[in-house]
Amino acid sequence: MELDRPLPQPMTPEARPYWDGLKDGKLMLPKCGDCGHTFFYPRILCPRCHSRAITWIQASGRGRLHAFGIAHQSFNRAFKVKPPFVLAMIELEEGPHMLSNLVNVEPDPKVVKCDMPVEVVFEKLTDDVTLPLFQPSRPTAARS
Ligand SMILES: [Zn+2]
Repeated sequence: MELDRPLPQPMTPEARPYWDGLKDGKLMLPKCGDCGHTFFYPRILCPRCHSRAITWIQASGRGRLHAFGIAHQSFNRAFKVKPPFVLAMIELEEGPHMLSNLVNVEPDPKVVKCDMPVEVVFEKLTDDVTLPLFQPSRPTAARS
């Protein structure tokens, strides 16, 4: 199985609040000020109504595992998760889908299930780049 993973997107001005948020341990999502559509990845125009009135909201960091694949090879040396790891399409509570990795879980299809609840964890790669990864949600009582 050959799987790919997009490298962090270049830090274009429209994506700056996203990267700055990650550095602060916040998952920020662009939201259209006109139609209220929350989307990902960051764009200059709302993908639904083409408005330029983009605002930012802090996502809860919670979502569900929409789809996944298990990768046995790392293709980005900056990426510190050791293979095999779980490539995950996360459906955020706010609606957007985000391609990420599922961590702190056995990379085994018997353990990883579609629709399982997940939550964000922040993986600092460099001083400039922190990536949002996801792990299975812990019970609410255990959440710090
Ligand atoms: Zn819009």
